[in-house]
Amino acid sequence: SSIDRLLATVPTRLWIEGPADPVEGETFSVVNPATGEVVAQVADAGGKDALLALDAACRVQGEWAATAPRQRSAILRRAWELVVERTEDLALLMTVEMGKTLAESRGEVAYGAEFLRWFSEEAVRISGRYTSAPSGTGRILVTKEPVGPCLAITPWNFPLAMGTRKIGPALAAGCTVIVKPAEDTPLTMLALAEIFAEAGLPDGVLSVLPASDAASVTGPLLADPRLRKVTFTGSTRVGKLLIEQSAQQVLRTSMELGGNAPFIVFDDADLDDAVTGAMAAKMRNGGEACTAANRLLVHNAVREEFTARLTERIAALRVGPGYEDGSDLGPLINEKQRGAVAALVADAVDAGARVRTGGHAVDGPGFFYAPTVLDEVPADARIVREEIFGPVAAITGFDTEAEAIAAANDTEYGLAAYFYTRDLDRAMRVAAALESGMVGVNRGVISDPAAPFGGVKQSGLGSEGGTEGIDEYLNTKYVAFTA
Ligand code: ADP
Repeated sequence: SSIDRLLATVPTRLWIEGPADPVEGETFSVVNPATGEVVAQVADAGGKDALLALDAACRVQGEWAATAPRQRSAILRRAWELVVERTEDLALLMTVEMGKTLAESRGEVAYGAEFLRWFSEEAVRISGRYTSAPSGTGRILVTKEPVGPCLAITPWNFPLAMGTRKIGPALAAGCTVIVKPAEDTPLTMLALAEIFAEAGLPDGVLSVLPASDAASVTGPLLADPRLRKVTFTGSTRVGKLLIEQSAQQVLRTSMELGGNAPFIVFDDADLDDAVTGAMAAKMRNGGEACTAANRLLVHNAVREEFTARLTERIAALRVGPGYEDGSDLGPLINEKQRGAVAALVADAVDAGARVRTGGHAVDGPGFFYAPTVLDEVPADARIVREEIFGPVAAITGFDTEAEAIAAANDTEYGLAAYFYTRDLDRAMRVAAALESGMVGVNRGVISDPAAPFGGVKQSGLGSEGGTEGIDEYLNTKYVAFTA
C-alpha cells in the first residue's frame, strides 16, 4: 500500500550533520494510533548524542550567524517549496504517526510550511536603529544579534507546524537549532531535516533528536553553558520544569503551554456562524489543540437551539482511520490520552452534566473516542478546569455578559478565547476584557503564521509567528558612541 511504501523510505536515524546512529545504539517504537500497531523503529537519542549535536551546532553557529540574510532567506524559501511539493507524503506520514485525517494533515503541511516562507521574508528585515542621545553628547546604535544555539522541544499534536514555527524564525535570525520532537511523532521532523539538507542548509545548523526519554536529551543541553535558548510547546507542567532548569544558565525561553479556551456565544450571535465556528474550534485536530474550545459558554436564551444544532453536526462525524476516505475524525494519540478524556467525561457526568451524544470510547483497535457533546456542565467539574485534548464539547449556560466574562477568565490559563456577537460595542468590550493572548471574534480558527501566537498567565511566555516571532531569537545590543 502507499503507507508501506512511504514507511519503507522514511528516515529513522538521528539527524546530526546528516543521518547518525545513537552512541548507545537503542531504538524505540512509533505506533499508528488508528490500529495500535508499530509502524517504525526510530533511533533513540541520549545525553551523549545531545552533546554531539551541540558540538556540531557550536562549530557552525558563528558562520551561520554571519551568512548573508538573503542566503538564509533563500534556504528557508527553498525548504518551503520542497515541503509544499511533498504535501502528500508528509500528510500521509503525519496521519500515520499522529492519527488526524488526511485533510487535516494537508492543512497542517500548508500551515507548517508557511512559517518557512513567512520567516524567509522576515530574515532580510532584521533591523536596528541609530539615534542621538537626548543630552547631545552621544550616539545610540542598537543592533540585533542571534541568541545562539537553541533547543526546540515540540509536542505530537502538530508534528510539522510546531517544529517549523520554531525552526523558521531561529534560522532566519541566524541561530542553530536542536529539535527534540515528541516521542509519539518523531518521523515528520526527521523527514523535515532531510528536506532542509536538500534545501542547502549547512550541516550542523539543524539537528533532530528523537528520544523515548525526553529529559535524557534535554537535561544535559540545559545544563551546558553553550546552549542559549529553549523554546517549548507542550504542557504547562513540563513548561514549568523547563523554566526552572533554564535558570541554571539564565536561558532565553519561549513557552507555548496549555490552554483552556472559552468559546462564548452571546444571545445576539449569528447561530449558524457560531455552530460552524464551534465545530472548527472544537473538532479541528480532533480537539487535540492547545487553542481548542475547552468550555462552550452559551447564553441561556439560545443554549438549547445552539446545543441541538451542534449536537447534530458532531453526531454526524464519521470516526475512522485518518487515511481512509470518508473519515472525519481520527483516533486520539494513544491509550493514555483516551483514558484521560474518558475520565474527564465520567467526572462531568458524575457532577451532573448531560450527555447529548457520544460519551464513550469506540470499541475495536486503535484509540478512538466517540465525538461527544455534554450540556449543563457544572462549573466545578474537572472538565471546566483542565485541558480536554479530545473531541468533547462541554457546554455551560450563562445569563449576563459580566457572568460570561467572569467565567471565561476563571482559569489559570490564557491562550485563546473565542466569542460570537453581532454587536460591535460588545465585541470591543469583550475582546478587551478577556485575559487571553489571542481572541477570535466571530471565528473559530485564529492561527496564522503572520500573526503573533502566544498566551498569558500560565499559558506561556513570548510569541511565535508574526513580526514578533523572530525577536524571540534575537538579542538586542546597544553600542554607545561619543557624538
Ligand atoms: P503532552 O501532554 O502534550 O504530551 P508534554 O509536555 O508531556 O505534552 O510533551 C511535550 C514535549 O515535551 C514532548 O516532546 C515531550 O517529549 C517533552 N517532554 C516531556 N517531559 C519532559 C521533560 N521532563 N523534560 C523535557 N522535555 C519533556
